[in-house]
Amino acid sequence: MKGLVANVDSGAAARSSADDRKVRAVPRQRGKSDDLIPKSGLLCGSLIREVKQCGKPRCRCLTGQPHGPYWYRRWREGGRLRRQYVPRDQVGRVRTAIARHRELYPPLSRLRGTLRELESLANNLEG
Ligand SMILES: [Zn+2]
Repeated sequence: MKGLVANVDSGAAARSSADDRKVRAVPRQRGKSDDLIPKSGLLCGSLIREVKQCGKPRCRCLTGQPHGPYWYRRWREGGRLRRQYVPRDQVGRVRTAIARHRELYPPLSRLRGTLRELESLANNLEG
């Protein structure tokens, strides 16, 4: 499942490098939440959720109550996988910006479905 998500990311990046460049021009987060969302209202990549174990010997996280969840936006930029922490109160806005971006740049998963159909057709032709 994790591998699948990573594949989706790499594909989306290949087609949206122009947008990545725009995103890079936006000032990095300086405590102002508005900086998370560019003026275009579009964000590439995907929103991921993580829980963490801190490593302290007697922490609740070792007994099934991990810290978090923490949210990140993850995207490809110049061939590198990047990620940015998303404060919990910004998760909704970031999710919306990502959804808008996906409307303009459909995710690879849709294309992959088409590819699968074509492959199956090709296999039939080959017998
Ligand atoms: Zn802990």
